Amino acid sequence: MNKNSSSPRTLGILGGGQLGLMLLPAAREFGLLVAMLDPAADAPCAHLADRFAVGNLMDYDTVMAFGRSVDLVTIEIEHVNVKALADLAREGKTVYPTAPHLKTIQNKCWQKEFYRENNIPTADFFIFSQKPAFAEIDFPLPFVHKLATGGYDGRGVNIIRTREDWTSVPDQPGLIEAFVPNAKEISVMVARNPSGQVSCFPAVEMEFHPTANLVEFLFCPSTLTAAQAHRAEEIARKTAEAFAQVGIMAVEMFLTAGGDLLVNECAPRPHNSGHQTIEGNITSQYQQHIRAILDLDLGNTDLISPSVMVNLLGEEGYAGPARYQGLDEVKKIPGVFVHLYGKAETRPFRKMGHVTILGETVEAAREKAIFVKQTLKVVS
Ligand code: ADP
Repeated sequence: MNKNSSSPRTLGILGGGQLGLMLLPAAREFGLLVAMLDPAADAPCAHLADRFAVGNLMDYDTVMAFGRSVDLVTIEIEHVNVKALADLAREGKTVYPTAPHLKTIQNKCWQKEFYRENNIPTADFFIFSQKPAFAEIDFPLPFVHKLATGGYDGRGVNIIRTREDWTSVPDQPGLIEAFVPNAKEISVMVARNPSGQVSCFPAVEMEFHPTANLVEFLFCPSTLTAAQAHRAEEIARKTAEAFAQVGIMAVEMFLTAGGDLLVNECAPRPHNSGHQTIEGNITSQYQQHIRAILDLDLGNTDLISPSVMVNLLGEEGYAGPARYQGLDEVKKIPGVFVHLYGKAETRPFRKMGHVTILGETVEAAREKAIFVKQTLKVVS
């Protein structure tokens, strides 16, 4: 693809969910037409993309046909057929992230091995193809069990606190990892373009919902010291370079009680932990992704304002057509930006939207965020 070409180019995005929804306007800013493929006919982007196709992202022929119909292929979800991506690239199609990068990411065991091989700090682990007997495990309790594939948003991750907990672990390929106690969970969004330019967004800090295992609050800037923030960016940069990544990637890390940073996992696409960049930073993670895959200079990632992001999850006890309680009230507050994903149906803990709250300080934004959480509810 010629980056100076003025003819309309079609970007093909695998997935048409909420991340695609926010990628769309960024792609259009750069003059791209957008085609999307998603298994759900009522996906958030179904009526918004220039071209929307319904199809299985794991199906080789479907992904091949879709990829051949566009000029450039990217993803908004990593569960896609990588063999098709590899073959599209072989045919000369531009595909970012690349198939080998994505293949490593799709399997938690391969991801951890990659960190070890590339001297990227990560919690100690061992990998197995068959579930070992409890007596064979050389890690003190508690430890963490992760399935190699099939888990997301905390499903497929089990904290093993007792011998009894181990009995319910399925006999499937997976890994055991040292438990990182009292860690702060942070994320650095990092972008790299094919020319090798790398740029990080300031680290954000996450606070998890105690039962849903989804991010409840996200703070930017984080409470990391300047030295820790610098180290986090160094690790994110090293990770991006090791993967020869192209596009935006979330590098999720633990800050241990002793002050060490360990990579937990990466997602080579726009990510929940970068939503607040739309209003909070000069360039958004979505714009940065488009710049990166077009091999344009990466944008300035400086903060415009401290921010807090809250996920808008379906309220417990409600399933059915979604209604938004308290929307008018929260939308009146200066610095509050509500993003609804346009999903018709709500269910407990379903991600229905997010809200970014800007404030003069993170504390001021947090106070507004608590009010938003108490006021805005997704019910049916
Ligand atoms: P997923 O891919 O489903 O998001 P993660 O590997 O990110 O799974 O794990 C989900 C959550 O489980 C993490 O955000 C963290 O809260 C907890 N967790 C994962 N690994 C560890 C660990 N080694 N020590 C302590 N907590 C962990």
